Amino acid sequence: MGMVTDPGYEPVIGLEIHAQLRTRTKLFCGCLADFGAAPNTRLCPVCMGLPGALPTLNRQAVALAVRAALGLGCRIGARSVFTRKHYFYPDLPKGYQITQGDFPLGTDGTVHLAAGMDSSVLERVIRVERLHLEEDTGKSVHHAEYGLVDLNRAGIPLIEIVTLPDLRSSQEASDCLGEIRNVLMRLEVCDGNMEEGSLRCDVNISVRKSSGELGSRVEVKNLNSFRFIRRAIGYEQARQAEILRSGGQVQPETRGWNEREGKTYTLRSKVSSNDYRMVDEPDLLPLDLSRDWVRKQQAQLPELPYQTRKRYASLGLSRDMVITLHSQKWLMDLFDEVMELGLEPSGIANFLATEVLRDAGQGAPIRAWQVGELMGLVAEGTISGKQMKELYGWVKSTDESPRQVAVERGLRCVADESTVFLVCERVVTSNAQMVHKYRQGKKGLMGYFMAEVMKQTQGSADPRVATAILQRMLEEEQV
Ligand code: ADP
Ligand code: MG
Ligand code: ZN
Repeated sequence: MGMVTDPGYEPVIGLEIHAQLRTRTKLFCGCLADFGAAPNTRLCPVCMGLPGALPTLNRQAVALAVRAALGLGCRIGARSVFTRKHYFYPDLPKGYQITQGDFPLGTDGTVHLAAGMDSSVLERVIRVERLHLEEDTGKSVHHAEYGLVDLNRAGIPLIEIVTLPDLRSSQEASDCLGEIRNVLMRLEVCDGNMEEGSLRCDVNISVRKSSGELGSRVEVKNLNSFRFIRRAIGYEQARQAEILRSGGQVQPETRGWNEREGKTYTLRSKVSSNDYRMVDEPDLLPLDLSRDWVRKQQAQLPELPYQTRKRYASLGLSRDMVITLHSQKWLMDLFDEVMELGLEPSGIANFLATEVLRDAGQGAPIRAWQVGELMGLVAEGTISGKQMKELYGWVKSTDESPRQVAVERGLRCVADESTVFLVCERVVTSNAQMVHKYRQGKKGLMGYFMAEVMKQTQGSADPRVATAILQRMLEEEQV
C-alpha cells in the first residue's frame, strides 16, 4: 500500500452493516425480492414511488429482523417507529427512504469475536448500538456517457446493524463483519452473499493518540469484501495519522474505496442527521410487538456461532479447526451427526475439514453414516488411511455403503503378513546405508522405511503390521 502506519496512532473503528433479509417479497409491496431478474421487472406503484401508493408491512421481514436482533443479543423495543429519511438520489424513487430513527427494532446487542478463544484471553465482545429495519434503494448503473437505473432492488427489506466504535484494528473489523455474517447465515435471515450485495459494509474510522479522546471520523462506503475492509482501514489509518502528525485536522467526510489504486477518495462531506428531515412515516403504524411473540422467537433461535465454538473447543479441537467447522451449517451439522456415532472428534474433524470440505459445494457430499463407516474401516485396520480417501472418492455423492464398495472393489489392507514381510525384507536389504544409520541411532529413519513399504504395496499394507515387522528386522539385526 506504500504508507507506513504510525504506531503512535491507534485506529478506532465502527461498522454499519446492511443485510438483505431472505423474504420472498419486498418490504412494503408484493413484488418479488429475488436477485438477477431483468432490470425493472420487479416493480409496482408502491416501490416505484408513485403518488398515492400505500405501503403494507411484510410480516416475514419483521420476523426475520427480530430473529436477527435476538441472535445478536439485542433488546427488542416494545414499539419501533418507521421514519422517512429524505434525500434525493436517482435510485431512490420516492425521494425518501423508509427506515427507523429514534425507535429502532433492536438496541444494545453484542458480537462475540473468536479471538483467543482457546487461551486464557476471554472472547472479545463488540457492542451493537442498534439494529433497525429499512428498505433498500434501487441500483444505478454507470456507463461512460449515460447512467441507468434499475429499481428491482428498491424496497427489498434490509436490516442495518450499527456497532459502537469498539474495534481497534483492520483485522478485528473484518473479523467482526465475518462473525455478523456467520450469525445472520446461521439464523437463515440473510444469505450472506457479498458479491451479489446481500451483505454490505460501511466502515467508520478515526485515529487517536493511544487511548485519548476519539478523533473525528471518516466513513468509507460500500466495502463489500473482507479484503477491501482491511486494506481501506490500513490506508485510512495511515492517511489520518499523517494529517495529525503534520498538525492538521481530519475532515469528517464520506469516502469511497478505489481498489485498483489502493486508496480512499472523497465522495462528499459528512451530512448531519438533521439534513435528512426525518419525520415519522404517516402511512405506517408504529410496530408494536407482543412480548409473548418475541419470547417465542427467542426460544426458536438455533445454537449461535459463539456457542458452537465453545462446545467444539470443549471437545479438544484446535481454534482453527473449530472456526472451519462452524463456518458452514452443513459442515457443522455433518460433524455433529457423525459425533453421535461415538467416534473420536479430532479424526473426524480432520477428515471433514480437509477431504470433504475440499470438493464440497453448497452442501454435504457425504452422509454421516457413510463417514462413520469410512472411519470404522480405518479404525479396525481393514483399510489404510490412504485407501480410505480413495474409497471416499468412490462413495461421495452416492448412497452407497463404503463397507460394501470396499468389498466389491477388493479394497483392503494386505492382510496376510507374509506379503508385507517380503516387501519389508526387500526394502531393508536394498537400503543398507539407511539401515546402518538407523542402527547407529537415527531412529527417525523409520518413517523412510515405512514410506518405502507403503509405496511398494500401493499403500495397502496395514501400517501397524508393517511397523512391527520393520522394527523387528531393524532392531534385531535379522537381515
Ligand atoms: P451517522 O448516523 O452519521 O452514520 P452514528 O453516530 O450513527 O453516525 O455512527 C455511525 C458509526 O460511526 C457507528 O458504527 C459508530 O461506531 C461509528 N463511530 C462513531 N464515532 C466514531 C469515531 N470517533 N471513530 C470511529 N468510528 C466512530
Ligand atoms: Mg452512517
Ligand atoms: Zn413493488
